[in-house]
Amino acid sequence: MAENKKRKIESEGRVFNLEWTSKYLFAVVKTKMMCLVCRDVISVPKEYNLRRHFEGNHPDLTKLDASEKSLKAESLRFTFYWLAVDESTDCADTAQLLVFIRGIDDNFNISEELAGMHSMKGRTTGKEICNEIVDCITTKLSSDFKNLVGMCTEGAPAMSCDVCCCFHCKLLNYIRTRKLKHRLFKSFLEEAGAEYGDVVYHTDVRWLSRAKVLKRFVGLKEEITSFLKTDPQKRFSELNDSSWNEDLCFLCDITSHLNELNIRLQGKGALIFEFLVAINGFKAKLRLFKSQLLKGILVHFPTCSQHISQERHLATGSKYAQQIELLIKEFNDRLSLSCEEKLQLKIVENLFSIDPEEAPSHLQMEVINLQASSLLKRKHEESNLQDFYKCLHQEKFKNVVTLAKQMFSLFGSTYICEQTFSVLNFNKNKQRSSLADGHLEDILKISSSSLVPDYDALVANKICNISH
Ligand SMILES: [Zn+2]
Repeated sequence: MAENKKRKIESEGRVFNLEWTSKYLFAVVKTKMMCLVCRDVISVPKEYNLRRHFEGNHPDLTKLDASEKSLKAESLRFTFYWLAVDESTDCADTAQLLVFIRGIDDNFNISEELAGMHSMKGRTTGKEICNEIVDCITTKLSSDFKNLVGMCTEGAPAMSCDVCCCFHCKLLNYIRTRKLKHRLFKSFLEEAGAEYGDVVYHTDVRWLSRAKVLKRFVGLKEEITSFLKTDPQKRFSELNDSSWNEDLCFLCDITSHLNELNIRLQGKGALIFEFLVAINGFKAKLRLFKSQLLKGILVHFPTCSQHISQERHLATGSKYAQQIELLIKEFNDRLSLSCEEKLQLKIVENLFSIDPEEAPSHLQMEVINLQASSLLKRKHEESNLQDFYKCLHQEKFKNVVTLAKQMFSLFGSTYICEQTFSVLNFNKNKQRSSLADGHLEDILKISSSSLVPDYDALVANKICNISH
């Protein structure tokens, strides 16, 4: 029995053990066992050899804990990577900066991980954010900028309806402090609480999550108005202003359209191509909205058509067509790609239908060779993009494959940041606002990571107390 077990361990020692990646930062790259730090190749796959190399050549890295080593191994493996950076203020009024890394390795595996979190004390300047990013890449990931493709920051377009939302927040706070027991208000406030969390008291809300709350607010407006009449001290005169009410309805409808887009832009590991389909579709919708609003057609604005009287449709329609125009401009300014980027994406997506002359010169020969193969053309049609580029000869089509990898590493939106911020607000609430940054970062890493902890190694490090 013991003999069998021993032989089994020995035979396993001849092949690469996946645990060695997080233990000694080694990985199999193109059938060779390679140190991810110095790119040295070791021919005999024995744990002893790897450990000797790791401890001898990279003594400073031996101090890292298991999760730090996993992240480092992951980022060292990336052929190309992309960063997403976002900043948010938590309940203790501290600005938190999150840096996410999304990378692609030689085998076309894409992963997204939290690379670092940093509490910004005092005023946050661009320079401070920049320093934090540099520190994140050089110290925490021990990587360099050579393989960095680009970076994305807060992507949502801003709207000019902030005044309206600010009032809405003020009113919410007012109702909340009255400790209402009314069933409707209670459920409304619960929903508001669920959407806003701590932020009801902070007007700096991620505005896209307001859609649901706004809808409920419009639905309960009559009850709210009659409730407010019971308190002569407090007057929210806006509630009786018809123009303000029209604005509120429009805000409610357009926020829900934007929220729908936002949901489509979510999704871990999704490729940029899917995002572009959603964004281009949304731009087409905006153009339709504008043309219909100018004619007084409110069919895609249900709250408006329900609450605004028929004779006001044309007047309000043309008023909001201007807002839609501003939104179209925001989308074009912020979410537009350069001609070069558009061409790069087109080549990767439609490799077999582009004119080779259109492609940059260093790609032309490879594009022609690829287009000549009907086998590869069929493969391109039948499989998803990632699988297609993975099966291409990596040397023969080196430039095309490199371009594909760069495009695949793109972050579509800062959604992953926003999602993590909601975890952050959940964990760092009023009662626990003194949570140390180190612990908070650990919680966020665990909640956003797709890395699987090496439980065996973690358990092996614990000494078991057996009484004699
Ligand atoms: Zn090494």
